[in-house]
Amino acid sequence: MKSYSPVLRASYLFLGCLLLALICSRAQRTESGVHGIDIAAMDHSVKPGDNFFQYTNGTWLKHTEIPPDRPGVGVFSTLQDLSLKRTSALIDEAAKSNAPARSGKRKIADLYHSYIDEAGIEGKGLEPLKPHLQAIAAIRDKKELAHAIGESLRADVDPLNNTHFHTANLFGLWVAPDFNAPEDYTAYLLQGGIQLPDREYYLNQGEHMRKLREQYQAHVATMLKLAGFSDPDARSAKIVELERAIAEKHWTLDADQDIHKVNNPWKQSDFQVKAPGLDWNEFFLGAGLSGQADFIVWQPSAFTGEAALVASTPLETWKDWLSYHLIEDYAGVLPKTLAEQSYAFFGAILSGTPQQRPRWQRAIFVVNGTLGDEVGKLYAAKYFPPEAKTRAQAMVANIVAAFRKRLETLTWMTPPTKAQALDKLSKLYVGIGYPETWRDYSGLEIRPDDIFGNLWRSGLFEYHWQTSRLGRPIDRHEWSMTPQTVNAVNLPLQNALNFPAAILEPPFFDAKAPDAVNYGAIGSIIGHEVSHTFDSEGSAFDAQGGLRNWWTSADLEHFNRATAKLAAQYDAYQPFPDLSLNGKQTLAENIADLGGLAAAYDGYQAALGGKTAPVEHGFSGDQQFFIAYGQAHRSKMREAALRRQVMTDEHSPSEYRTATVRNLDPWYSSFQVQPGEKLYLAPDERVRIW
Ligand SMILES: [Zn+2]
Repeated sequence: MKSYSPVLRASYLFLGCLLLALICSRAQRTESGVHGIDIAAMDHSVKPGDNFFQYTNGTWLKHTEIPPDRPGVGVFSTLQDLSLKRTSALIDEAAKSNAPARSGKRKIADLYHSYIDEAGIEGKGLEPLKPHLQAIAAIRDKKELAHAIGESLRADVDPLNNTHFHTANLFGLWVAPDFNAPEDYTAYLLQGGIQLPDREYYLNQGEHMRKLREQYQAHVATMLKLAGFSDPDARSAKIVELERAIAEKHWTLDADQDIHKVNNPWKQSDFQVKAPGLDWNEFFLGAGLSGQADFIVWQPSAFTGEAALVASTPLETWKDWLSYHLIEDYAGVLPKTLAEQSYAFFGAILSGTPQQRPRWQRAIFVVNGTLGDEVGKLYAAKYFPPEAKTRAQAMVANIVAAFRKRLETLTWMTPPTKAQALDKLSKLYVGIGYPETWRDYSGLEIRPDDIFGNLWRSGLFEYHWQTSRLGRPIDRHEWSMTPQTVNAVNLPLQNALNFPAAILEPPFFDAKAPDAVNYGAIGSIIGHEVSHTFDSEGSAFDAQGGLRNWWTSADLEHFNRATAKLAAQYDAYQPFPDLSLNGKQTLAENIADLGGLAAAYDGYQAALGGKTAPVEHGFSGDQQFFIAYGQAHRSKMREAALRRQVMTDEHSPSEYRTATVRNLDPWYSSFQVQPGEKLYLAPDERVRIW
């Protein structure tokens, strides 16, 4: 589970997601050109023991301005910009290559063109929407409504790998290895139905959220008005009230991550009994899933609640809800008035980012989201030479070895559990750079003048591809990220890791930097992904990816005690007077940060082989290691974006991820951290898990 940093919401099959993607992404920083720690970025007036994030990044934070089209800037965004630039060049080459019709390169070029063709989009006006809006208008009863809701189902969520829980459709589908029989794919269904990022946005009674909701309701009315609907204010009020009622039934993000609550196998025939109100036969017919007997329902009470709302809410409200969702999801490829209104709320207000990214960049996000592997093939061939792969493999091997050693020497774990843990680690598949096989897009029709149709067909193409795998054997080596993605991921049901080419780059991974710095930066990222194998969720899966308790009760008790202590540590962080971190919501990621940093430190010591590291700029090897870790988390965000991350993301904000260091003894000795300093923890308060 679990990516290294908040994921660019990359389904792109829905423009709502696309928009979120642009908001979620972080942004640009100029390259320092430094190999090793960035001395100029530090603030030496801050004591490392008081605020390690400020100490390592303070001067950079002071002098960095967030560009108007970004929700924030940081080290990830620097690499995202590099990947974007390279991808742009690849698309350019594809366009100039005169590739034959229906070839991959032609599809890339045509899709890109269809997105940037603003004149074409304006010329068509609302035409592309019309047949879909007419179909909604023609719905005569709740039976037809259930069919339409089924037809809207897409494979647009991924609760474990990319931790993507949000869909604006009433439900979302994830096709993945079966919790209970991990050798085959099965169908997971998740709650959905709201446009705002999380239930809190509808239910929280604080002043901040109340105001946002008023602005949202005004926005929905404006969208409906622009799309030609009568009585937009009355319709908007009912749509927002329906979404509020849906949100009330939703599970919270920390409940969503409790792996022991989400394994709920339902037969198709169970739905009518357990979640009455929606005509499930029609739903599954519409979804093309009539033949699928088995499902796993992630949030059963939300399904019961949402289905009951289908029965209790007037048909006309549901039809308005469907219409508004269609318009919102595709707003980015509709005429300017709608596209700009959509951004004005979801970008400017919700993420506090005044300006939208340039259209060419958004076009690249769409191409990456739609034809990701086709672009990835070109990217890997050009930017990830075999030497890079060999170097990265060696680094991964060192960190895995360090983690294995930590497991072997753990004093709290009993031998039977330890044997299983070691077995699991030995079966871990680590993908580096790019996948062994590529997706085939030959069945996807892309037209150079039809962005709406391209995205509509792409959503269906993905859905059909995913559902075609149901009941078939899994491919453990399958990737869940493209090579051009700046991130890394652990796939618990496959017992696998992916490290895409685009994250294996300076400043994370720099052949010219000292070992201390590479271990502190990319080493801690590798360690983080390895540690997810044994975090609060990952540890529930066995070596084959099955959801099975392989722990003795004493070991599990110890693990739960230690992780509760870590959750409490994060609960205490308060980025705003009215908003604290949620230690449970971020627990798996915080465990991975802690285990990852500890394994990277050990890997570094092993690489030194007993020698003393050279001092650079007056800093010892150990000091450079920790400073590099702090600088790998360099980031500055707008308040709205940061609040959104705290409320809706599993990753703690960078400042608190950096504070992981306070749990490691060598950090104290490296910086002479003393009692009384703000990050100081007495030795028995430091959390030690792996
Ligand atoms: Zn993670």
